[in-house]
Amino acid sequence: MSKKKNRKFIFVVGGVLSGVGKGVTSASIGAILKRKGFSVTALKADPYINVDAGTMNPTEHGEVFVTDDKDECDQDMGNYERFLDTDLTSANYMTTGRVYLEVIEKERAMKYKGKCVQVVPHIPEEIIRRITRAAELNDSDITIIEIGGTVGEYENILFLEAVREMKLTRPLDIAVVLVSYLPVPAHIGEMKTKPTQHAQRSLNQTGLHADLIVARGRLELDSVRREKLANLCGIKKENAISAPDVSSIYEIPLKLEEQDMGNKLLKAVNLKPRKSNMSDWESFISKVRNGKREINIAVVGKYFGTGNFTLADSYISVIEAVKHGAWHHDVKPKLDWIDSEEFEKNLTATKKLAEYDGVIVPGGFGTRGVEGIIRAIQFARENKIPYLGLCYGMQLATIEFVRNVLGKKKANTVEMDPKTPEPVIHINPNQAENVKNNRYGGTMRLGAYPAIIRKGTKVYKAYNEDMISERHRHRYEFNNDYREAIDAAGLKVVGINPESDLVEIVELEDHPFFVGTQFHPEFKSRPMRPHPLFREFMRAAITRNKEIEKLAV
Ligand code: GLN
Repeated sequence: MSKKKNRKFIFVVGGVLSGVGKGVTSASIGAILKRKGFSVTALKADPYINVDAGTMNPTEHGEVFVTDDKDECDQDMGNYERFLDTDLTSANYMTTGRVYLEVIEKERAMKYKGKCVQVVPHIPEEIIRRITRAAELNDSDITIIEIGGTVGEYENILFLEAVREMKLTRPLDIAVVLVSYLPVPAHIGEMKTKPTQHAQRSLNQTGLHADLIVARGRLELDSVRREKLANLCGIKKENAISAPDVSSIYEIPLKLEEQDMGNKLLKAVNLKPRKSNMSDWESFISKVRNGKREINIAVVGKYFGTGNFTLADSYISVIEAVKHGAWHHDVKPKLDWIDSEEFEKNLTATKKLAEYDGVIVPGGFGTRGVEGIIRAIQFARENKIPYLGLCYGMQLATIEFVRNVLGKKKANTVEMDPKTPEPVIHINPNQAENVKNNRYGGTMRLGAYPAIIRKGTKVYKAYNEDMISERHRHRYEFNNDYREAIDAAGLKVVGINPESDLVEIVELEDHPFFVGTQFHPEFKSRPMRPHPLFREFMRAAITRNKEIEKLAV
């Protein structure tokens, strides 16, 4: 661990509303500063008591993102990895629960040497330890720390206290960015700064003052509002940054850098301004904007019950990976979410999948809608529609194959039917113990595992590598008793874990593209480096799209 540098810390806090885009702003700041030649890392501090995001329902909290080192964390970690094009570790993520757990464990181990262990100073002290440790482990010149929640609420107060204390010892190294929301009430038709003024005041009550304000809203910040923010929130006029809604989140680094935000931040942490080179990002964005041909992808899964917003949050890495794959080929992806229960009620409803250029079954848990998903997979297999099955999508593809090609109609996963006579997907004994004893937190097969790829397959061609490493998050596994039979009948086992001999990838022969992965490739896709499987899935989908177009003429 290197302690040499004069490290800088940029804290990003939220005002007025949650969900205004602190995560993407933090990630964008990182992308900008990286292009000024700094080494940058990003950290998320989440206010909830859960030790990790793994035990939270994704409909409530959004996607559970997984790091190589087995952490189940907030979806913003995915944004950081995508924008910074780097792999992060559990050192870059903390929750209130994790911080308290550490302090309590230290207390039990007499590490405080008989002292009274208190909320202050011991909790902020642990938070500061984690922030500086992440900076050291990543050897970053600049560390961006996003504090979850909104200023003014109880929950994140100890994180803000940690910032205040850090600022006392290193006043020249710390900047605070407030990402706030500026509403435009319909009956007034004018952008209002007052809620943001209150947010700055709430921050002042914690002993902090934002140096820059990122003004999120439907519209651009005009000069009148900029002046108001400067006067009434006490910031430099040029430090009010306009961040109106954009069509793609990847536009944001350019939007911020247009306003020289990088140098303004450097100034706030007492560094000299530097030129940045955003040319790679600019050419990537022109590719994003250029895509005209629409490729229709059906995402089939159980109904989440709370509409498209929740879906988009629960599957953000899948959505982003599809986009990365599509942009690589200069096309525009269009995703439709299809509730698989539809296919259970009406057996011929799967026909509508013929209109699509590709079908994805993403990860999932539980029994709801599973029979419908299996029908959708059968339709994609039989009608040669490009198919990508992610985790549950791989498990259910193998079950569909055993049922309908090998004729074992009772094939199932023990997750659906614990007593199935044909457990194609089963549970290994230590996992069964975990479930029996309610040990749910952090006990799935998590994080990076290697797989050896069989040569001469589409998957091999995609990766162009013998050995890969991908991230997992699942409890159940393919049962090797069925391995020879599916392989001989055409569902080839093409990826094997060299240590445990577990099946990690299957690929159907005589099909344009039919691949199932036990892991989640979406976690490793990057905007300018799409994941090979998403890239090849999109290639097959484009071919089908062109064929459908020809038939229509
Ligand atoms: N429910 C399945 C399992 O636990 C698949 C999990 C997933 O799709 N992430 O193994």
